[in-house]
Amino acid sequence: MGYAVTTSTTHGPVMIDATAKQGQASALPERFVVAIDGQASTGKSSVGQKLARRLHAAFLDTGAMYRAVTALCIERGVSTGDDAAVLELARQADLSFDWSSFPPKLHAFGASISERLRSTAVDGQVSVVAAIGPVREFLVERQRWTTHQRPRLVTEGRDQGTVVFPDAMAKFFLVADPQERARRRCAQNPGADYDAILRNLIDRDRRDSSRAVGPMAVAPDAAVIDTTRMTEEEVVVHLETLVRAAAGRRVAREER
Ligand code: C5P
Repeated sequence: MGYAVTTSTTHGPVMIDATAKQGQASALPERFVVAIDGQASTGKSSVGQKLARRLHAAFLDTGAMYRAVTALCIERGVSTGDDAAVLELARQADLSFDWSSFPPKLHAFGASISERLRSTAVDGQVSVVAAIGPVREFLVERQRWTTHQRPRLVTEGRDQGTVVFPDAMAKFFLVADPQERARRRCAQNPGADYDAILRNLIDRDRRDSSRAVGPMAVAPDAAVIDTTRMTEEEVVVHLETLVRAAAGRRVAREER
């Protein structure tokens, strides 16, 4: 078990995290955002969750929010081409995360919807919903609001470092060869159709990077990580090292 002690800077207390590896002086600020963006199925969620645990931070899966609105459209017969109706449904759903579980479960209309987000139908429609400007604005506000409840946050999506949290302490953009990504998805879902998965993730990347509002893009200050030939553990360790270095720089700046 690790332990933590606090010390102070002129900008408030700073947690000295004693779970850090030996010899690695590590100070994590009380408030920080780590933004992980990237292409579909590059492992953002699993890497983000593991990183969040190591940093004693909450984990926000913003893709789940777009998926939830999409699943509700499908279930309730709302056309994803009807922007106003999709926005109204998103508002009524009152999306919220249950932070008592890890990863947090997403609730809509007062009940968990996390189990209904990964269907082929949702995969096929979610990029259409995510391109609706007013829906994005609505969900982006909710994502920003999360930091009031969870001041230490690892968040993942497509626009976290560019639009939602431009001042994030550390930013990453994960990429990997499409074939490798499809292979990983199939390994997680035995019996899945490799060609259909490959087509879907290429199609989603194309739609996500070409939309007018909040397109998937690399923030100028993001580290681009190609995970094609890396294990998940290697990616997590690499990101943790970069986050702790960024935290060290922030603390040093604040102490000046
Ligand atoms: O991350 P995940 O694959 O679950 O995201 C599903 C879809 O949600 C993406 O393909 C994208 O269309 C949308 N999305 C988005 N902005 C985010 C997160 C996800 O547009 N911040």
